[in-house]
Amino acid sequence: MTTPSPVRFNVADLVIPKTILDDIVAHANELTPHECCGLLAGTNGVVSHIYRIKNIVAMEGAQNLSSFDPAKVAHLERLSPEERAEIAFVMDMQDFSAAKKDMRNNGLDLQVVYHSHPHDPARPSVTDIKIATDYEEIWPKINLPIPAYLLVSLMNPTPDVRCYWIKSGHVAPAAFAAR
Ligand SMILES: [Zn+2]
Repeated sequence: MTTPSPVRFNVADLVIPKTILDDIVAHANELTPHECCGLLAGTNGVVSHIYRIKNIVAMEGAQNLSSFDPAKVAHLERLSPEERAEIAFVMDMQDFSAAKKDMRNNGLDLQVVYHSHPHDPARPSVTDIKIATDYEEIWPKINLPIPAYLLVSLMNPTPDVRCYWIKSGHVAPAAFAAR
């Protein structure tokens, strides 16, 4: 455990309330075998809010994928729901926009993007790293800071929760404290 320093230039030391960590695990359990996803917001690395976001990859038919790259949608639609659940998650844009608006109204910053791995370890997949790297350019354009990535694995009886920084394709652990 580290003591938060008075001045921070990044959120390498995240503080996440136990209630929010429990909620992430509950969300993961509700959505399994699909991945769940969501956002954590707060100030200066101290998380205070959780926003559950619908994972549209997990939704049957994937009709709501129309706002995305047609080639990607065509690919996703060819897959079975089980196969789609294995790939990754795509956040519902309505939920995302509502969360972003709520953060702004409450003076909060995006701190963390979370998702679950129902059958795999709590570390970013190749797809996760690729998407996070693509998003490095997108966050500033939508006026959001580059977040840490939290993963919860359900592969063992005790859920495993871990945080990472993903920069330019490189993954580094991010220390977080539960309180
Ligand atoms: Zn993943």
